[in-house]
Amino acid sequence: MTTTPTGTAEDASTLLDVRALRKVYSGKGRGVEAVSDLTFTVAAGELVCIVGPSGAGKTTLLRCVAGLLDCTSGEVVLEGRQVTGPPAGMAMVFQEYGRSLFPWMTVRQNVERPLKEKKVPKAERRRLVREALEAVGLAEVHDAHPWQLSGGMQQRVAIARAVAYQPHILLMDEPFAAVDAQTRADLEDLVRALWKRLGVTVLFVTHDIDESVYLGQRVIVLSNSPTVVLEEVRIDLPDERDQLTTRSGPRFAELRAHVYELIQQAKQGHRPAG
Ligand code: ADP
Ligand code: MG
Repeated sequence: MTTTPTGTAEDASTLLDVRALRKVYSGKGRGVEAVSDLTFTVAAGELVCIVGPSGAGKTTLLRCVAGLLDCTSGEVVLEGRQVTGPPAGMAMVFQEYGRSLFPWMTVRQNVERPLKEKKVPKAERRRLVREALEAVGLAEVHDAHPWQLSGGMQQRVAIARAVAYQPHILLMDEPFAAVDAQTRADLEDLVRALWKRLGVTVLFVTHDIDESVYLGQRVIVLSNSPTVVLEEVRIDLPDERDQLTTRSGPRFAELRAHVYELIQQAKQGHRPAG
């Protein structure tokens, strides 16, 4: 574990605590302030979406949360421990599925690899891989190589790999931005189904307002860069969601319009007070 204990008391249900996170990329001259000041928490078992325009610093934020990037100031606390490197209880699904799977390994080997690194015994590994591939609907193609699969199927492999690892929190960075609309809808429903079935905590980043409202229990709305939290919107839609009914309801329209307005206002220079 590359985390250290912190002394701060926090809500027992808090899994992830992001405190005054700031990230400035150093470069020639003054550098780029990608993230200005982000504070939020995620409770155990929650499905939280983060939405913000392209360039808002969403990937920067997730890389800091995942311990892949040092923040300039502020801190990230996972399960009561400050994150200073990739924590054991975390898995991440990236946007670029093409680059996240090993082309020379089969689907099964790709999913199994992090479990080997985690030193999970062989029989247990086999079971976890089989269950994860079944859960994402890919049990039949375990011997295929990633390049033999469609983009949507490759992203399912990446999701299976993350799920098999049994993370406490699953980070997803615009995972469906590169697939077609129908596949994307199916994958969104897969994320909701896995979240419900496995009880895993999910932090899902997207630039797509509709996607954030459809998926989340809560949506954290980010401004354009330098980035701050504009508002946390509770999504009071029924827990049972489906692409047709949920998206065509009046409450869905209200929520998406609200998030849209927040982001538009921020682009025109309005920022939250305080
Ligand atoms: P998003 O994921 O929301 O599109 P990013 O986190 O990728 O946003 O980028 C936020 C800002 O930080 C952008 O202005 C981007 O150009 C800048 N940025 C991202 N990565 C780097 C880097 N490695 N070095 C310098 N600037 C970067
Ligand atoms: Mg990004």
